[in-house]
Amino acid sequence: VQAVFRSNLSHLLELMGSGKESLIFMKKRTKRLTAQWVLAAQRLARKLGSVWRDQKQILVHIGFLTEESGDVFSPRVLKGGPLGEMVQWADILATLYILGHGLRITVSLKELQSNLGVPPGRGNCPLTMPLPFDLIYTDYHGLQQMKQHMGLSFKKYRCRIRVIDTFGTEPAYNHEEYATLHGYRTNWGYWNLNPKQFMTMFPHTPDNSFMGFVSEELNETEKQLIKGSKASNMAVVYGKEASIWKGKEKFLGILNKYMEIHGTVYYESQRPPEVPAFVKNHGLLPQPEFQQLLRKAKLFIGFGFPYEGPAPLEAIANGCVFLQSRFSPPHSSLNHEFFRGKPTSREVFSQHPYAENFIGKPHVWTVDYNNSEEFEAAIKAIMRTQVDPYLPYEYTCEGMLERIHAYIQHQDFCAAPGPAPPGARAPLSPFVLAPNATHLEWTQNASFAPGAWPPAHSLRAWLATAGRACTDACLDHGLICEPSFFPFLNSQDAFQKLQVPCDSTESEMNHLYPAFAQPGHECFLQKEPLLFSCAGSSTKYHRLCPCRDFRKGQVALCQDCL
Ligand code: UDP
Repeated sequence: VQAVFRSNLSHLLELMGSGKESLIFMKKRTKRLTAQWVLAAQRLARKLGSVWRDQKQILVHIGFLTEESGDVFSPRVLKGGPLGEMVQWADILATLYILGHGLRITVSLKELQSNLGVPPGRGNCPLTMPLPFDLIYTDYHGLQQMKQHMGLSFKKYRCRIRVIDTFGTEPAYNHEEYATLHGYRTNWGYWNLNPKQFMTMFPHTPDNSFMGFVSEELNETEKQLIKGSKASNMAVVYGKEASIWKGKEKFLGILNKYMEIHGTVYYESQRPPEVPAFVKNHGLLPQPEFQQLLRKAKLFIGFGFPYEGPAPLEAIANGCVFLQSRFSPPHSSLNHEFFRGKPTSREVFSQHPYAENFIGKPHVWTVDYNNSEEFEAAIKAIMRTQVDPYLPYEYTCEGMLERIHAYIQHQDFCAAPGPAPPGARAPLSPFVLAPNATHLEWTQNASFAPGAWPPAHSLRAWLATAGRACTDACLDHGLICEPSFFPFLNSQDAFQKLQVPCDSTESEMNHLYPAFAQPGHECFLQKEPLLFSCAGSSTKYHRLCPCRDFRKGQVALCQDCL
């Protein structure tokens, strides 16, 4: 059946149910954004033209909202607790619904069981039931519940599952045996899924799929209006919880010399003691009022926490400059409580790396807060700069619809594994060494991987310098790492074409392979396809990296990916 774009969201609002504070927050958001979603769908429909879109039957099981997993978030919605997850789930639901797919939503174990056809009270059902869904979107909590209650079906249908995973899961943590043997075992990882089945809030590592969320977009008239009415001396502090203000007196004192400071910190009856008296605290605001506050403000300032949330994008979209601290040394699961136990070794160099790396100046200033002069100079400079409201395309409604459309139509993790068994020589070499360069390109006449997505001709393979991860090596060349291309490179032929002097070649399990070790002129191939990883580096290895191009403002999609 062909999927048809929907423009009336009232049925979706019904499907979302009611009762919980979290659901109320999500529904309000969806209602408020309806006009934007509808307009975006019209634009995307025009862009896609007559392309066929399969209608999928989709189950969305929001595990963290179930009582069975404790539902710690719902009671905190009105008390300054994290809202980023709810923003994202609301936008995922809107996207799937507007794209025209069949949708079921569950927020309790009972509803999950009845939708999966598991008789309640049966516990671990031993039978393989036919699954009435093509796709299931859930989170780590939901994944655990499905494993417990789907019996053998879980194994059979796990390839249809997508896991919404804010900070991401790197391949080394996902592979059970490897994680256990090499110290990558955490509370969350080791599911042996295809790493692309994990979907993140920001494009952290291309090993996972970038799901994202949306921020409200302004039209030209609104942009002009906002620019004209900015108070150049008004700052809003990032963070709804009082604890983030602790120990920040020095910075607040400096900031207070130049600007009027506003906060949206939740409080019960009196001012939280961490928030100084010169701050105008509005208490936790409803989302639309928070947006209004951002429209007036010149500066949105972060003090290091929360990490990587939606609010800085909203601030920048409303014409604020975002000022944040550089982390040196970077924060990661190795040295910071917040990231400890998360299935990633990603190093976080500032409070919001996406804002720093994908947006940057003049919208984003990342400075060393330990250096008071640098901090003060940044504030003064920001007060003098004029910036336009800015929202990257991938965070607009159209961008999110486009990206998820592409995933739904092209990502298939149930199909038999890709070509080129590890270590094998391809019968016909699909590569050429690019002229005057040191990277490999796909040959024009290579019919080696028909139907691959992203299409194989967008592959550009580079040998990274020692110690460089493929994520970074590709970015160095203005490209993005594409893990689904690893199988094409995992051969002696690829090394040979790159003129790498291999004295020996071995095939082993290591998330850094394929790679070349300079000292012994050894080449290593990857033995376990699940361990292909863009993330990760070691000074011992030059990694062989599969890169590809990407669309401007839509890093998840290559030029020919739509
Ligand atoms: N927000 C809000 N009221 C406020 C402050 C923030 O509704 O007073 C919203 C904001 O619009 C954003 C969401 O909270 O979409 C999540 O913000 P944040 O970046 O702080 O991420 P979190 O840590 O909550 O996941």
